[in-house]
Amino acid sequence: MKYFSFPEFEQSVTAALKGYDNSTPREARRNIEYLVDTVLDPLREHLAQPIVITSGYRCRDLNHDVGGSPTSQHLLGLAADFRPLHATDEQMDTVRQWFRENAERLEFDQMIDYGSFFHVGVRPEGSTNRRQMKCYNAFGQGYRKD
Ligand SMILES: [Zn+2]
Repeated sequence: MKYFSFPEFEQSVTAALKGYDNSTPREARRNIEYLVDTVLDPLREHLAQPIVITSGYRCRDLNHDVGGSPTSQHLLGLAADFRPLHATDEQMDTVRQWFRENAERLEFDQMIDYGSFFHVGVRPEGSTNRRQMKCYNAFGQGYRKD
């Protein structure tokens, strides 16, 4: 874990407002390190600019409040929502292209393109990942991209 720190995955406006303790348990920390080592650090290196984690780890209450799936990988520290610091159209396209070009060798289960941010999730270390890429439009309807 070169470019990221745990607080970036724990900070949440909702958790702060509600007074939830969203600090990462030991197991989640291991998963976050794996997610960073396999996907986020290499992407950060490629972008040559910081990546902002908009939602990382979620305790159960937080996940419920933000409408997360009950089986969300965010609960385990295995997923993160993020965007490049300077989220220009060009930078957003660079992220999309990086996933497409590296999909074969990258360990990720799902990458979801929400237009203004991305979700990336991995399965626990040693599990088989689906390397699935999805794109959601403004109406929340999904279609497979590439
Ligand atoms: Zn997510």
